[in-house]
Amino acid sequence: MSKEHIETPTDETLKSNFIHQEIDKDLQENKNQGKVLTRFPPEPNGYLHIGHAKSICLNFGLGKHYNGATNLRFDDTNPVKEDVEYVDSIKEDVKWLGFEWQGEPRFTSDYFDQLYAWAVKLIKKGKAYVDDQSAEQIASQKGTPTEPGKESPFRNRSVEENLDLFERMKNGEFEEGEKVLRAKIDLASPNMHMRDPLMYRILKRHHHRTGDKWCIYPMYDFAHGQGDFVEGITHSICTLEFEVHRPLYNWFLDQILEGEPAPEARPRQIEFARLNLNYTVMSKRKLLQLVNENYVSGWDDPRMPTISGLRRRGYTPASVRRFADEIGVAKRENVIDVSLLEHCVREDLNKRAPRVYAVMNPVKVIITNYPEGQVEWMEAINNPEDESMGTRTLPFSREIYIEREDFMENAPKKFFRMDVGREVRLKNAYIVKCEGIEKDESGEITEIHCTYDPNTKSGMEGSNRKVKGTLHWVSIEHSKTVQVKQYDRLFMDEAPDGHKDKEFLEFLNPDSLSVIDNCYIEPNYKDAGANFEDGIERYQFQRLGYFCIDKDSTEKQVIFNRTVALRDSWSKKKK
Ligand code: ATP
Ligand code: MG
Repeated sequence: MSKEHIETPTDETLKSNFIHQEIDKDLQENKNQGKVLTRFPPEPNGYLHIGHAKSICLNFGLGKHYNGATNLRFDDTNPVKEDVEYVDSIKEDVKWLGFEWQGEPRFTSDYFDQLYAWAVKLIKKGKAYVDDQSAEQIASQKGTPTEPGKESPFRNRSVEENLDLFERMKNGEFEEGEKVLRAKIDLASPNMHMRDPLMYRILKRHHHRTGDKWCIYPMYDFAHGQGDFVEGITHSICTLEFEVHRPLYNWFLDQILEGEPAPEARPRQIEFARLNLNYTVMSKRKLLQLVNENYVSGWDDPRMPTISGLRRRGYTPASVRRFADEIGVAKRENVIDVSLLEHCVREDLNKRAPRVYAVMNPVKVIITNYPEGQVEWMEAINNPEDESMGTRTLPFSREIYIEREDFMENAPKKFFRMDVGREVRLKNAYIVKCEGIEKDESGEITEIHCTYDPNTKSGMEGSNRKVKGTLHWVSIEHSKTVQVKQYDRLFMDEAPDGHKDKEFLEFLNPDSLSVIDNCYIEPNYKDAGANFEDGIERYQFQRLGYFCIDKDSTEKQVIFNRTVALRDSWSKKKK
């Protein structure tokens, strides 16, 4: 992975993926009049996660690459689990990632009338029937892949009776579970999805868009392919588990289109492997459980693999797009190392985040030969990777904080930080020499005494003197106090939901959040210019990592979230 790569649009990787090759072929054959229209079809039953980001980057990336377009469609066929809160969050997340859908967002519920009419058409053709059996009974008759299913006693109802019953289902005359509409296909098909699958069920539920208009709702399988068709989607990209549904989607379309003029476009489904990340759970059901049972503070908790969680953690849209590029698109399932995601944000922030000084675990240093009351404003470069980000000034005075870890008594030779008798450079200020320390009764160091060499300020002759070790620092009197939240992985196991005998919750990391109430930061950090396109301020705290300002910050209490450490600390940890 080279650094220059990070801003590359999704186009680059798309050129080499197999979906791209399939679409190229279609275009060469002038299918769909040379048009490409893709869609991203979430069900609004939870917040989007990093897996969805892969699908978003792929679908919108294809739309863009082929000068086509991409629809955003909410597949809202299950009123029990869906909510406008999810619709709103999904729109926000897609926009934040930097993509634009064609026209207004669409909803499968907008097609409920059309779907109902198509169901009636199937009944009239003798291709669908009302079944009075319970879901359990129907399931028990499905058979196995090698054994055919059993016919329902209601399979051979007359068309008239089916039409009457289906209409009465719609009119609310039956209770939930009393009846379903099934397609009449083939109970001996080796594909279980073709064994008279359900098309409609009774649900006397309020729908977030259609209200109480409907008390029957189409199954996802009877809605998804038709949704694509209605919208003129040319390429319907989805995850591998839908491969076995493809014959069913095609069967439904064949039935619907029979006797109709040939359509301009008929969706072609192409499947790819979903994203799996280690140390992460991605099922919406499990993420919802983490939220509902308060293991995290919400869908956007910075430890969540949701897009909103990543955003709050400080990830940039570019870093997420970059990650999608890196992992590419394949036909075979694999597990991606979460450190790749961290690598992508680190690379992006290295280029774009200004450097500022903050001390998280302070120890006081007194520079005994520095005049009391004197303040010097030192010039500091905001980002050595990007000169255009300019400089700012920070105050230097007699009493400063450094990190406690930057001092060691009787340190070994290789410890290039502070010890009595040694010299170090205070970055952007002077070279200082440690003369002594003071401790309390418990042996903890309370003060470090140093002298400075006035001839070593940057630009001065003495500043070129070689010293091993450069430390960051803040002037005590001038520093601001902020809160810092540091995050570690939410799960300690590589595959938290991959254990048969254990629940994923058993692998929660008890130390995934640690809070430092008093972190000292230079007063003018805002001058460093942390202007990101999404309005979130992101910084590198010199030598500590990348941090962003949390949305819950107030004038009085600024909260920083640690996005990622400067280096991958996990690669060294034991498994
Ligand atoms: P769940 O099964 O956890 O309820 P879902 O993944 O089915 O959720 P949808 O809202 O149906 O959620 O997903 C919308 C789109 O995102 C689908 O096209 C789906 O294929 C894709 N998608 C979901 N998860 C992943 C993933 N891990 N990797 C890539 N694409 C994904
Ligand atoms: Mg789904």
